[in-house]
Amino acid sequence: MRTIGLIGGMSWQSSRLYYDRINQMVAERRGGASSAKIVLNSLDFAPIAKMQSEGQWREAGAHLANAAQALERAGADVIAIGANTMHKVANQVKASVGVPLLHIGDALVKELRRDARSRPLLLGTRYTMEDPFLIDHLGNKGIGAVTPDKADRDALHAIIYDQLIKGIVTDDARATVRAMIDRSGAQEADSVIFGCTEIGMLFPPAEAGMPGYDTLEIHAAALVDFALG
Ligand code: GLU
Repeated sequence: MRTIGLIGGMSWQSSRLYYDRINQMVAERRGGASSAKIVLNSLDFAPIAKMQSEGQWREAGAHLANAAQALERAGADVIAIGANTMHKVANQVKASVGVPLLHIGDALVKELRRDARSRPLLLGTRYTMEDPFLIDHLGNKGIGAVTPDKADRDALHAIIYDQLIKGIVTDDARATVRAMIDRSGAQEADSVIFGCTEIGMLFPPAEAGMPGYDTLEIHAAALVDFALG
């Protein structure tokens, strides 16, 4: 079995879900007492969130590159950035290590293509919804993601940073996100991407009211395929 190197802490609420799901999938597939070989480099999110909000992406990328190198030294055979937003600096991280980086967008594209989705609603942080890194990643593969309007993007960003990364899950937030998904019918969305690794804390993609794709689940499954492949 290969060793998964996870850059976590972005946020730790989702890192523990990565840890659970990766281990559960390995246990299901291998049976017996099997569990995943994981090295987790769980970062303090406070300085990273500050760099994000100040637009210091180069510095944030260097921070993650250091974390990736430490994982490689610790024996990781593959590196995963346990968040969508920080894939904005995926190329910088990838260039800093000798082992492959398993990009969350590649795993996502595979799933969307398998189901012939061409117009997903992308939900995530404001960075993920407004900067082109993930939208272009999908667009280059012929998948034209749509995003909520500005008021909804701001509301979702606030739910993620003020609540979900702190483990706060409310019915209000659930209702807000459900309403966003319902409104996307007007944009003719054929599916919804949970493009933030904390959104699944609100409700599972099966309860989204349209075909749902949870990037945490998809990324974890792709990592397990790599580890066991
Ligand atoms: N985990 C989140 C994501 O998937 C948001 C936190 C972050 O900015 O990294 O984008």
